Amino acid sequence: MQGQVPRLSKVNLFTLLLSLWMEVFPSRKHAENTKQPQNVAIVYYRSFFAFITLPSCFLQQVKKTGLVVVGNMKIIGLHCSSSELHAGQIAVIKHGSRLKDCDLYFSRKPCSACLKMIVNAGVNRISYWPSDPEMSLQEEISADSVNGDARLDAKAVERLKSNSRAHVCVLLQPLTCYMVQFVEETSLKCDFVQKIARKEPAFPISTFYEYRQERIKEYETLFLISSEDMHKHILRIIGLENLCENPYFISLRQNMKELVLILATVASSVPRYSDFGFYLSKTSSESGPSLTQEIAWHCIIQARLLAYRTEDHKIGVGAVIWAERQSVNCDGTGPMYFLGCGYNAFPVGSEYADFPHMDDKQKDREIRKFRYIVHAEQNAITFRYNEIKPDENSMIFVTKCPCDECVPLIKGSGIKQIYAGDVDIGKKKADISYMKFAELKGVSKYVVSVEGNESVTLAYQGRHIGEMAATRSLIKTFYTHAFSSYSSFFISRLFLFFYKSNSFSFYVQLCLHERYSCKNFSSSDIFITALKKMLVLMNPK
Ligand SMILES: [Zn+2]
Ligand SMILES: [Zn+2]
Repeated sequence: MQGQVPRLSKVNLFTLLLSLWMEVFPSRKHAENTKQPQNVAIVYYRSFFAFITLPSCFLQQVKKTGLVVVGNMKIIGLHCSSSELHAGQIAVIKHGSRLKDCDLYFSRKPCSACLKMIVNAGVNRISYWPSDPEMSLQEEISADSVNGDARLDAKAVERLKSNSRAHVCVLLQPLTCYMVQFVEETSLKCDFVQKIARKEPAFPISTFYEYRQERIKEYETLFLISSEDMHKHILRIIGLENLCENPYFISLRQNMKELVLILATVASSVPRYSDFGFYLSKTSSESGPSLTQEIAWHCIIQARLLAYRTEDHKIGVGAVIWAERQSVNCDGTGPMYFLGCGYNAFPVGSEYADFPHMDDKQKDREIRKFRYIVHAEQNAITFRYNEIKPDENSMIFVTKCPCDECVPLIKGSGIKQIYAGDVDIGKKKADISYMKFAELKGVSKYVVSVEGNESVTLAYQGRHIGEMAATRSLIKTFYTHAFSSYSSFFISRLFLFFYKSNSFSFYVQLCLHERYSCKNFSSSDIFITALKKMLVLMNPK
């Protein structure tokens, strides 16, 4: 390590980013809305949902906060505030006295209600992101509020801090110089971007940068305070006056900006481009309840963030295990709860020189690393915090295709779904083989793809007019929800098609390919009536 300035360690850096990331966990309200149509609605109404993923408490005094709990060097909890409880309170409910000696990473400085409980539990260290605190001072100052609650709370927090054993601090130091570039390169190379680029040659790299630009804007609004004066004002109130003087203030803002840039870059490594999403792989025979695209996307990016903690020189892999409980809970993560996570690393407690670090380019097979590295999935399963319950829907998110060593482990552990990269599927790469993933039965596999593998034939009085690509679940939903909002959405898609093709007065015969035959189509009459009505509306003559 060169230079005088101490660097933020890789482990702390990505744990800190994970806490910011947890703050944007898709909110419950939104998850419930999209539960029924599963994959469908989310794809098409993306812009709408992008809007409501902003914390609902944005204009209120208590801001949504993300939290990572680290015990014994392992992540044992990923939380965020719910509409009823703060992140710190949720951690106390979940972990109780096991919080003793843990390190907590908050995306905002916790309020006094949270802090007194976590200090009481005997935590070791509380680090937080030095922006607007949980009890928003920014709102109070800009609203010129006279009640001063946030200021009083900040004072109480300072008093709690100075009288507690726990170390309350800001973990923010300059990044190693190549970090931003490294994250950018690895994000572009990661399975998800690669998969889209392969399937859609029209996906240019510039799309990645445009997408990232949007994310940067979104996260800067959330995690940075645009006005320097306001930021200084808040820092003074929360006991960080030492950071208000230059050059410290300038470098603090610069560091925060860089970290937001890294977060936005990692979030762009799974771009929500066109109709791409996580859909059941064609080699999957199972179909259980699937997550909304928003949640799947959020969890896979958690895994991407973890991948950067790798001990492998070449390839970082991250894995996170979540489960969905039957009953609704107090969590900000809704029915989802964290089971465990990991990244590829040498066995715990080993020193750098203990094992070979060579890869397959080394001819001597004995000194290659692959027999010694514990894979991300293996670490996640080993150090899981909760049991994998057979009656609950559990899922693992992995940034690369699970290898032949891991596939039976995942299945054997009782995990029901795998969300993963699949660029290496069916390949044998020197020391590691990826043959078993494709054949795996009994676990649902979700990979990045477009769900449009069936089409609807449109005919006018028996004459073929055209075809429209329809997604499988869109058709399925249309069948099951005879005339719900989804089918009206489907109709609107059809409608757009007719509108473009200028054929307005006709009746429609729906022929659905493969599994769905026309005869089973019970609601076709309603459909046609509705379509006619809509035709009249759109074309009054
Ligand atoms: Zn709180
Ligand atoms: Zn593996």
